[in-house]
Amino acid sequence: MDQLPVATEQSHAEIRAEVAKLCSRFPGAYWRELDAIRGYPTEFVHALTEAGYLGALIPEEYGGAGLPLSAAAAILETIQSSGCNGAACHAQMYIMGTILRHGSPEQKQAYLPGIANGSLRLQAFGVTEPTSGTDTTSLRTFARREGDKYIVNGQKVWTSRAEHSDLMLLLARTTPKEQVGKKTEGLSTFIVDMRAALGHGLTIRPIRTMMNHNSCEVFFDNMEVPAENLVGIEGRGFRYILDGMNAERLLIASEGIGDAKWFTEKSVAYANERRVFGRPIGQNQGIQFPIARAYAQMRAAELMVQEGCARFEAGLHCGEQANMAKMLAADAAWAAAEACVQTHGGFGFAEEYDVERKFRETRLYQVAPISTNLILSYISEHVLGMPRSY
Ligand SMILES: Cc1cc2nc3c(=O)[nH]c(=O)nc-3n(C[C@H](O)[C@H](O)[C@H](O)COP(=O)(O)OP(=O)(O)OC[C@H]3O[C@@H](n4cnc5c(N)ncnc54)[C@H](O)[C@@H]3O)c2cc1C
Repeated sequence: MDQLPVATEQSHAEIRAEVAKLCSRFPGAYWRELDAIRGYPTEFVHALTEAGYLGALIPEEYGGAGLPLSAAAAILETIQSSGCNGAACHAQMYIMGTILRHGSPEQKQAYLPGIANGSLRLQAFGVTEPTSGTDTTSLRTFARREGDKYIVNGQKVWTSRAEHSDLMLLLARTTPKEQVGKKTEGLSTFIVDMRAALGHGLTIRPIRTMMNHNSCEVFFDNMEVPAENLVGIEGRGFRYILDGMNAERLLIASEGIGDAKWFTEKSVAYANERRVFGRPIGQNQGIQFPIARAYAQMRAAELMVQEGCARFEAGLHCGEQANMAKMLAADAAWAAAEACVQTHGGFGFAEEYDVERKFRETRLYQVAPISTNLILSYISEHVLGMPRSY
């Protein structure tokens, strides 16, 4: 049996308290204003960067805080449970993991210290494409080697924060799918300096979405990438991206838990305070039960995140836990959101309560960064041993 370190709910209490203090400077009104104009929370991101939170997972030798994954999870959970939205910058925490694990010593020196101190933003992740969608290995963006550079042509969609990032981690084909033994081969990972490429083969077009997410379409038209920006070995990029996914899923799950906690706190406060028919609405079981159910779901998801983080930190396999945590947390957040809107009645729809904004924001976890269906497929195939369904 694997020895599993125990993580407790109280872990990283000091970090949680400090993050909550920082977040209190960014109240609902701040987010509502940005939501209306689909603006980027620059001041909030600066504050997190200055406090060192976005460099939490970067080792100290590169200027980061060198904290464990559970600490990063605590940071993101607290951001969400405080009513803020970490989606504006959460990727700065984990995309760098690909460079850390698979980059050359020169790449680590060139990028990690800047990412740690915030002078370099690596928070654009170019994987999804409009035609291939979830079927990642069918992506069409192609990087052709020409001497000491690659020439990139293709298109990405839903590249979040592309307008607010200096660098992009790009997944592109370097060998056509028809010419590789396994479809997961022939894909490569590149660090794209978007500042140099913008207007020189790189075009970014924002997509307006139901919530404020700064997601974009990105077009590559003979964009040049120096060969030295290839991460690791050509053709092995898909494996490098997969290596980072468990950490990403556990972190996104933590955000879902934070959202669920925010909704539940709001629901309980309103249920206790709002009086209809001469008594608090929270006295009605029809109001209590959905809130209580969502709370129980959240607590179960929280335990799965803790188990996943503990396994990750111990260097054990955690694909099962990371995937289940992401799905359970997304479901708990959605259940808590639904209960919160219902508890607030008409006021659940009023912008000034922030409930409708958070409701829109939390819906995303069912789809991105991986959809619930694909997690169920993962569990069916890789955990339970049933045939692959696609
Ligand atoms: C706001 C936002 C931000 C995003 N940010 C990024 C980003 O920064 N970088 C990035 O690369 N991507 C990003 N994404 C993309 C996201 O990861 C994808 O949207 C998601 O993986 C689903 O892919 P798709 O949209 O192409 O849906 P599709 O693949 O077209 O799927 C549509 C539906 O069909 C279901 N489906 C497909 N195949 C199967 C199957 N075999 N079995 C069962 N169901 C199936 C899916 O679950 C989904 O519900 C973002 C998306 C959004 C909406």
